[in-house]
Amino acid sequence: TELDQLYIHESVENVIPQDAFVDAFDEVSIPAELVGDDREYDASDAVATYAPRPEFLNAGWVHCIRAGYDEFDTDAYDAAGVALTNSSGIHGSTVGELALTFMLSLARLGHRYRDHQNERSWWEPPYDRPFTIENERACVVGLGTIGEAIATRCDALGMDVVGVRRSDEPVPGVSELFDPDRLHDAIENARFVVLTVPHTPETEGLLSDEEFAAMRDDAFVINVARGPVVDEESLIAAVKNDRIAGAGLDVFETEPLPDDSPLWDLDEVIISPHKGSATNRYHLDIADLVAENVRRYQSGDILKNRVA
Ligand code: NDP
Repeated sequence: TELDQLYIHESVENVIPQDAFVDAFDEVSIPAELVGDDREYDASDAVATYAPRPEFLNAGWVHCIRAGYDEFDTDAYDAAGVALTNSSGIHGSTVGELALTFMLSLARLGHRYRDHQNERSWWEPPYDRPFTIENERACVVGLGTIGEAIATRCDALGMDVVGVRRSDEPVPGVSELFDPDRLHDAIENARFVVLTVPHTPETEGLLSDEEFAAMRDDAFVINVARGPVVDEESLIAAVKNDRIAGAGLDVFETEPLPDDSPLWDLDEVIISPHKGSATNRYHLDIADLVAENVRRYQSGDILKNRVA
């Protein structure tokens, strides 16, 4: 069946302005329309959405506007024979730059200076605290779109970059690749351990007590992947007990991060509100991907980023 309608589910508003997103499909061959939860679908409908809904399983094709599609039941899509695609491939620069923001700040203390600026305080750090990221080692865990973007940026800044992935396909900028079962070897000498893996049963709790014990005590964790990839309670204990130096976190076990989380109070933890991909152009990047897949669907070609 050909598609005759593209529905934009209102949940996209979580991350992009919904009207601007609908307008971005002006040039596409089928009409785009904003919908809420009161809609039924059939095989001639495409849906672009942030959140999953059971009724999407009646559509012809569903696009999750996020790269992480862990909230979607891929088995149900396979069983229903409905194509599910995600937005992998467009977050390299955006999430990559946020990771670098964390790393440079943690090294050169942007976060501490701003804390003191808020108090009008001319604070001078201990002599041995600031360092250059040049010549330091970054271990990037998960070398897909985002991991590779971070690796090439770290390499360009003169860092020594190693990485972890399941396949042994080489990655530009990465000097040594480790299999996931050698995670401890990969992270033990790193100044920054950067998480860019999807949240799956294998990656849940990937960093926990044992990994923090294996890491250097002056190492920082950067998590721009998903909260559950790090055992948050272990992380808090590791930072409090100086087993590691700190963290830059865009993602959390519970979002928004609860008021009473100890993370808020840690000087060497930088928190951003899951905004790794947030820029003024995000809706256009997603729309380009969806429009490309509309073209492919109508011509019977293989969809880009098909995950079920
Ligand atoms: P990709 O699919 O391009 O990359 C993920 C990579 O992880 C793959 O290349 C894969 O390589 C590797 N991988 C998978 N499982 C494991 C494992 N067990 N151990 C080590 N490596 C593994 O995804 P993206 O780079 O686009 O995004 C990655 C994740 O980042 C998303 O799943 C999402 O959760 C998160 N994200 C966060 C955002 C934010 O706002 N903070 C925005 C966008 C995404 P291989 O197959 O070789 O193992």
